[in-house]
Amino acid sequence: PRSGFCTSNSTFYSKRKPIPLPANHFLDVTTFISSRSHHGDVAFIDAATGRRLSFADLWRAVDAVASSLSSDFGIRKGHVILLLTPNSIYFPIVCLAVMSLGAVVTTTNPLNTAREIAKQISDSKPSLAFTIPQLLPKLADCSNLPIVLLGSGNPISGAKFKIISTIEEMMRREPSQIRVRERVDQDDTATLLYSSGTTGASKGVVSSHKNLIAMVQTVVNRFKLEEGKEIFICTVPMFHIYGLVAFATGLIASGSTVVILSKFEMDEMLIAIQKFSATYLPLVPPILVALVNHADGVKRKYDLSSLRAVLSGGAPLSKEVIEGFAEKYPGVGVLQGYGLTESTGIGASTDSEEESRRYGTAGMLSPSMEARIVEPESGKVLPVNCTGELWLRGPSIMKGYFSNEEATASTLDSQGWLRTGDLCYIDEDGFIFVVDRLKELIKYKGYQVPPAELEALLLTHPEIDDAAVIPFPDKDAGQIPMAYVVRKKGSAVTESQVMDFITQQVAPYKRIRRVAFVASVPKNPSGKILRKDLIKLAVSKI
Ligand code: AMP
Repeated sequence: PRSGFCTSNSTFYSKRKPIPLPANHFLDVTTFISSRSHHGDVAFIDAATGRRLSFADLWRAVDAVASSLSSDFGIRKGHVILLLTPNSIYFPIVCLAVMSLGAVVTTTNPLNTAREIAKQISDSKPSLAFTIPQLLPKLADCSNLPIVLLGSGNPISGAKFKIISTIEEMMRREPSQIRVRERVDQDDTATLLYSSGTTGASKGVVSSHKNLIAMVQTVVNRFKLEEGKEIFICTVPMFHIYGLVAFATGLIASGSTVVILSKFEMDEMLIAIQKFSATYLPLVPPILVALVNHADGVKRKYDLSSLRAVLSGGAPLSKEVIEGFAEKYPGVGVLQGYGLTESTGIGASTDSEEESRRYGTAGMLSPSMEARIVEPESGKVLPVNCTGELWLRGPSIMKGYFSNEEATASTLDSQGWLRTGDLCYIDEDGFIFVVDRLKELIKYKGYQVPPAELEALLLTHPEIDDAAVIPFPDKDAGQIPMAYVVRKKGSAVTESQVMDFITQQVAPYKRIRRVAFVASVPKNPSGKILRKDLIKLAVSKI
């Protein structure tokens, strides 16, 4: 059935044309992309330096780096490679080279602290890391990890780090005749990105080559792209699934050009749109909000007439913001995407202005994706227009969490359904509306903040008896982490002391930005924090 809704088993089917998956079982995602890669002109531009990488340059570099990794450094299928870097022209080269060998890409947010990165390293056990000289101190605790430096710049001296090469050196290598190429199965692991899922701390999300191939097809088919003519601005982080599947890999298969900015900075982004005549601008909601709020100044200073659409994803976008954007920037469409690390990217999207005009929708199911809406308490599968937890099934759903059977079993069922932890309904035309988040996860400016991680840290404070962390609504960031804290008897610890204690230990986006003291944390009989009660309490005091 392709009608959008089937009553027999209450499954929603995608209305979009299904994507054919390649029949050849032995295929890695890099080979798949290169076989589809239109040899357009420019694949990537570094916005800061103006350096251009043609498609021919890109594939030559990928081949050289893969040869060097396998022949010089013994990287084989299944080895994990860590990328600790802001966006750069090297990011896609390294990703594609690693995956071509059947090795596994793991990424981490460069804002993470050395402690947070060490934790991920002890879980994913990388054989080698790529990083920039400025971020070397964050690997100080991992002295045995072989490191390849990205870019120029003087490495920190001393024997503290095991620096084995630089990317430029690898790119100059002649692709080797004796390059070791193992057979990669579509079911082999391609990426290991970290997400906290519905509960607990961050876990490695295992996505296969098949998952990524399906997502590349979804990304390329999503837009009506004029071959070789579209220019995308990439400020969204490539370490996150949004940036990785779209800008570091997927769009290469469409012949589009991606202009890479190392990080988000409003003026630099606007200058890049004007300078490179960008047609698509991918964003997260807080930046869209800022563009609406500062529209008059922006339009006075910059010529944005080349823009056809902004793409928003990673967090909810309100009807008011879409309406505000339409009013301030007529002629520029807003396209929404909804997805998770666990769905290897887009699970639903609006692909045209007409679809986006269904205000508030996160879009229609991606090609070949199926959905169910399930009542959380009873497990009952619900019909059209009823709100419950969204379950997704399809070719891009992860294989599971890395070395964590318990978390995998509670997230993926035996029939392949992924519990998203998002409270949604689907209307009679197949449009998905995200109503609320059922899971613990907090999203600060699109970044994941797992409350369980902050709660565990708070409990190590000598004057704190108990704590719960919840999302608090915020106009600019979407949500901010707020802590409810139970002081130990006799303690006079203050709000700012609690905040400072966390600030010293976590990445800036995970900071606790609001604190309230309570006599006890409400819990159910089995000891689970009643977060919804605390959220209601917090919101009632606004
Ligand atoms: P991540 O794994 O970091 O991509 O986070 C996935 C979560 O972000 C989803 O489960 C949602 O809670 C939220 N999310 C992503 N895209 C959207 C969207 N378009 N609308 C509402 N929430 C979203």
